[in-house]
Amino acid sequence: MGARERHSGGGEQAAPDGIFAVDGPLAARKAGYRRRPEQVELARAVERTFRERGVLLADAPTGTGKSASYLAPAILRALRAGEKVLVSTATLALQNQLLTEDVPVVSAASSSLLGQPEEEGIAYSVMKGRRNFLCGQRHEDTLREGTLLDGKLGPGLERWAVETETGDREDLDFPVPAWAWLEVASDGEDCAPKSCRFRDGCFYYAHREKAQDADLVIVNHALLLANVASGGNIFDAEGRHLIIDEAHVLEDVMSEALGARVSYGRVRYAMRQAKKKSEGAVAHTDRAEMAAELFFGELEANGALGDEGAAPGSYGTLKDALLSVSEALANDPKEEANNLTGMVARLLGDLRFFYSEPEDEYAYAVVEGRRSFRRGRKGGVTGEPLPELKAWLVDTGEAFREGLLPLFGDGGVVLTSATLATGSGEGRSFSYTRGRLGLDGPLGGRTVREHLGSEVFDYAARCLLYVDEGEGAPRDAPHGVPAAEREAAAGAKRAEDLVALSGGRALVLLSTSRAVEAYRRVFDPPFPVRFQGDDSPGRLVRWLKETEGGVLVGTRSFWTGVDVPGEAVSLVVIDRVPFPVPTTPSSSASPSGRAGTGSAPSRCPGRRWRSGRGGTAHAPRFGPRRDRASRPQAPPQELGQGDPRKPPPAPVTSSLREVESFFREGHPPEDRTKTRPA
Ligand code: SF4
Repeated sequence: MGARERHSGGGEQAAPDGIFAVDGPLAARKAGYRRRPEQVELARAVERTFRERGVLLADAPTGTGKSASYLAPAILRALRAGEKVLVSTATLALQNQLLTEDVPVVSAASSSLLGQPEEEGIAYSVMKGRRNFLCGQRHEDTLREGTLLDGKLGPGLERWAVETETGDREDLDFPVPAWAWLEVASDGEDCAPKSCRFRDGCFYYAHREKAQDADLVIVNHALLLANVASGGNIFDAEGRHLIIDEAHVLEDVMSEALGARVSYGRVRYAMRQAKKKSEGAVAHTDRAEMAAELFFGELEANGALGDEGAAPGSYGTLKDALLSVSEALANDPKEEANNLTGMVARLLGDLRFFYSEPEDEYAYAVVEGRRSFRRGRKGGVTGEPLPELKAWLVDTGEAFREGLLPLFGDGGVVLTSATLATGSGEGRSFSYTRGRLGLDGPLGGRTVREHLGSEVFDYAARCLLYVDEGEGAPRDAPHGVPAAEREAAAGAKRAEDLVALSGGRALVLLSTSRAVEAYRRVFDPPFPVRFQGDDSPGRLVRWLKETEGGVLVGTRSFWTGVDVPGEAVSLVVIDRVPFPVPTTPSSSASPSGRAGTGSAPSRCPGRRWRSGRGGTAHAPRFGPRRDRASRPQAPPQELGQGDPRKPPPAPVTSSLREVESFFREGHPPEDRTKTRPA
């Protein structure tokens, strides 16, 4: 049983302290540096966790400077003892931020502290998923086909493919929309490195091999969990310490990553790949695409799950067509066609999973789809979303405890976030996180410690919370305009008012991609504006930092931990709270107990999770099945002070005049004592 101890905050381990001294190496490298006791205490707790090979839950409120707190002990250990570390954070943008801003400074400061030349410091690298890299083979296939990459895209990519040294989408010097990039990006489903003639110069493998050797590797949670699902086959974590930043989102990412999703886009993508590699499959792929369009269209009206007999009428046709494609690929004389059999078989397996007898460990639902391209009635493509099938792993605790932790059996594991604890005052605790991550059970002798940092940011003096009391969509909106569009138009108008007062410099966070698209049509403030999807997340954040008065409109991927120092972001607009809003189920799973044969979806632990590198297939047991709507959530009274679902302790107003005064004076009205919205 893992022991539970409070960190004392005393000087048990002074190793990282020197780096944070007022006249120390960090101060010499960071403009406006000030020593924060909270930061030093957290660094000590992290150092102790590495030393003990334990597990640390650390709540570090905004302003603690948690990145330096965990990087300093990790880098000092790498320099002194050659110990390696893996840092996982929520998004690509945060990976880039750590790589370009935090790690170089802390690395240089650590070398300086130890009296070593900075240029001989640690090797550090970001590791990204393969879909971020141009695949030579797929690029050639697409050129040969001459279909999607027409116009300026084709020649632009051809030039870039020759010039680029990384093949990383982030380094593109012209915009390539996501759907086009997917056609040429590396994909594990059809990558056969042993027979690929581009293998020697493959951008993805070169990136992976280089990153693998670094002392400090930065991944994101999706890649971390993909590695868990593959049993550690994507990268070798052996002997490394693990730091999970933005750990409050880990259980959600885990729940999705180890669940399943079947969408029209996924079927269409698989069929396009099959068509490219096998002429014998073409007739079947066309049939499957047509059946998929019908099937996902029918889901709108028929969301019954867990029973083949109640499935939409086109389910059987889709299933048969996918089976025919799979057989055609398997029987094709070309190896490159055979390689795709697994991709189609997994798709078919996942589709069947939703109509088999429901399994206790998953929650199922028909959800609103993402925008995906499909054939329009008069040719061309249309991007209107179709509903999708989605399943979530309910009990993430066992997956974390038995799938992830053993991969880091030789190192310490630190989980940190500004909002990892729930509750407030004396009731602030990690009980919710411990439960969701399975940390109350046996951990093979590892000690779980807790660190509750104190509040650092002065919300009362430096922040004003404006609560809009508008009534939503205007009543005089034109007839025939959908409610969601009218709501977006009304929200965009109010956001424009706020952005006018802040002089731009704003991040507008919306609850869905659909809302972003609606804003794109109506949001028009007199400042430079960019929207999620216009470019890669990292480049959009960079644009925001560098563009005077810039306004960035995006969804939850920009919500977590995007660090824009200074005044480049002086206003954050959120369209809806609680935030983020889970994908709206339009229909949840039907009650269990119906006839059918169940099989775990392809991404689920039952099939692909291994108990350790090269270990035996593991079939864990999970708790009772719940609908998505009843997934365990922290009760409202237990939410942490900094939890995004609860407002920060700042003065509250509903007056635009007070907002105007705040931006003019630089502080909230002095007579404000109320710190919560009514
Ligand atoms: S090895 Fe795989 S990812 Fe690399 S070029 Fe070949 S097919 Fe593409």
